[in-house]
Amino acid sequence: MTFNNSVLDILYLMYRRLRYVLFSDSSPVVASIKITQRCNLHCAHCTWVNKVTHDLPLDSWKNIIDIIYKRGCFVVFVEGGEPTLRKDLAEIVKHIKNKGMVCVLFTNGTRKLPDFDLDAIWISIDGTEKSHDNIRGKGTYRRIMDTLRDYPDKNTYSITTLSKVNAAEIEAMCRELSSTSLKGLIFNFMYPYQDVSQLTLSKEERISCARQVLDLKQKYPKIVSSDSYLRAVGQPDKLCYPWLLLLVTADGTITHGCTVEPAEKPNCEACDMMCGLEATLGFELDRASVHFWNLFNILTSFNIDHLPDWALRLSSIRHKQIM
Ligand code: SF4
Ligand code: SF4
Repeated sequence: MTFNNSVLDILYLMYRRLRYVLFSDSSPVVASIKITQRCNLHCAHCTWVNKVTHDLPLDSWKNIIDIIYKRGCFVVFVEGGEPTLRKDLAEIVKHIKNKGMVCVLFTNGTRKLPDFDLDAIWISIDGTEKSHDNIRGKGTYRRIMDTLRDYPDKNTYSITTLSKVNAAEIEAMCRELSSTSLKGLIFNFMYPYQDVSQLTLSKEERISCARQVLDLKQKYPKIVSSDSYLRAVGQPDKLCYPWLLLLVTADGTITHGCTVEPAEKPNCEACDMMCGLEATLGFELDRASVHFWNLFNILTSFNIDHLPDWALRLSSIRHKQIM
């Protein structure tokens, strides 16, 4: 069965919600695969780069993708390291697409973008030129701008991880990035991993940044982070279903659950990462967050606004035991 048709996507999500509510089915929905740990950059905040330097061969990744598919995922984020360093990236993506899964590529944007079929490309941009270059290396911001000029028709999105370094630049970033060929701007919050905790924002600062992004959505419609996510930031009752996520590290280890866990013990109170929260809201069929997922060719032609409220309420019964 394939799910790249948008009506099938929403039916699949509703089916999974039903299985969750009735049978506590907590199989994953979104997978992140770190196909390499090698990277051409050495960002100041990076917790992953070069911790594993040996890439698994293509056949191993094909097997892993088969497992991901069988376990229920229908969205795969291909990341690294820098995934475009792999010469067989096209074959990895093709294997994902052949299964009918949605494929999003994460890149630092400093290399040529692939010319094969992808549902979306997320480019990490950490601030205006000075801050971005301070974190990622001199000249990297300009290289991304060149990349965006070279590939104006690609389905590219910026993803900005907010931290002490760039929190004061939110509006400046929105202004600059809105004038590029990016299709949308996504905001995230840095998790306080032990080696970067000094850069992370306090709860009050995160709430204030999220409110600012929410207000700026009127002025900069390219901002696509969902209203529901931005309102949930810093709130004690925010909902995260870590079991929606599957992480495969570069050595092929599969972790089902919180993406922090392979590195250290998760601290949910200090976590406002969009991966867990937007995925959970999308799974809850929250209208604003489903619109967020619409952007990546998921549910593209299906208009969630046509669903009656009772149908959404029915599918949004929360299962308190699993959280
Ligand atoms: S581009 Fe990504 S993987 Fe590479 S060093 Fe920076 S954060 Fe780490
Ligand atoms: S809130 Fe963050 S740390 Fe907690 S389970 Fe979700 S992703 Fe993990």
